[in-house]
Amino acid sequence: MTLRVDGDRLAEDFAALAGFGASDGGGVTRVAYSAADQEARDWIDGELEALGLAVTRDAAGNSIGLLAGADPDLDPIAVGSHTDSVPDGGRYDGALGVVAGLACVRAIREEGIALRHPLALVNFQSEEATMGAATIGSRAFVGDLDRKLIGSTAFDGLSLSTHLRRAGLDPERLLAEAGAWDGRFAAFLELHVEQGAVLEECAVPIGIVQGVVGIRRYRINCHGVANHAGTTPMDQRLDALVGAAPLVTFVRDLAISLGIVGTVGNVRVLPGSANVIPGRVELDVEFRGGDQATLLRAEEGLRAKAEDDLGMEFTAVSAKPPQAFAEPVLQAFERAAEELGLGRTRLWSGAGHDAGVIATTTPAAMVFVPSKDGISHSPDEFTDHSYCVAGTNVLLQALIGLDALRSF
Ligand SMILES: [Zn+2]
Repeated sequence: MTLRVDGDRLAEDFAALAGFGASDGGGVTRVAYSAADQEARDWIDGELEALGLAVTRDAAGNSIGLLAGADPDLDPIAVGSHTDSVPDGGRYDGALGVVAGLACVRAIREEGIALRHPLALVNFQSEEATMGAATIGSRAFVGDLDRKLIGSTAFDGLSLSTHLRRAGLDPERLLAEAGAWDGRFAAFLELHVEQGAVLEECAVPIGIVQGVVGIRRYRINCHGVANHAGTTPMDQRLDALVGAAPLVTFVRDLAISLGIVGTVGNVRVLPGSANVIPGRVELDVEFRGGDQATLLRAEEGLRAKAEDDLGMEFTAVSAKPPQAFAEPVLQAFERAAEELGLGRTRLWSGAGHDAGVIATTTPAAMVFVPSKDGISHSPDEFTDHSYCVAGTNVLLQALIGLDALRSF
């Protein structure tokens, strides 16, 4: 018999968590280190303790609940996500993965199942970019923190250090203890809402996430000659914005041809006045994709078009490589969906997640459930409850399946 979570109880837990920091429009404001997030965290921790888990908080404010396994030599299999949200965010982002983890623990405890591995539920802190940097809790886990990050300015103009201190945490201790958990999970599994519309488009309930896309950003400078917009005839102009225009459609067409996404997200027109012909234009270009070689082809295509063809200045600004998830964990999700008779597809995450950070040191993967109309970071974020239950059952079956594998 395939073990399943209690769907009604999952709905109750989900509603209870959504009550912490509930906003008027039906969403939540549960910003990292705020009182609302602390209360949500305390509530989850209390539920875990009632189920017999030992709960600790680390220097980043991550909550870790641990259920002992039968084999004391094995590292824990971890599940989880985050309870923090963006201001006036949705009820599902992060929260679903946390209550799903709680539902798995409930099912395992209530059925009296003895796992070989310890089971950990991690409620990461500060996953959203509200503190001036994202995934601070998971970065603390893998030791990817430095003093510069601690000095980040949060969305409200206060420093991250101030937010940490107000939550009773010590920035110096956070730096000193970063990485203390490194490598201590046998695997990490995260259920999350898709925050896009691919699953809805394909009408499948389960997305098996192959990894988190790489992101490469560029600055392109296009030079013209600023002059009077009234007295300069059309055939005597060198208009930087007209010169830049082909690049915008080029980025779109290149991305489509390579099967990635590409965006000109910002255009600064200088001097920026209705009565002056643009003398200079700066464009911010971004490519995202799951394959590093394809991203490098996009980069070379953009550089050649900008420099060789259009005579612009091309500068690479930042490059974050794709983070692929671990095939054994992906296969555990595949088998779980198969056993449960659930339709599934593989896809890449276009957004960053805690699992993407944890995957740098630990076998990790994610499962997505559909987001209605692809909306996220909004009170309108919605996922049908049947999908939440389906995703949670996949999480439960996958962790039980991994636990049974001799290689884990
Ligand atoms: Zn999230």
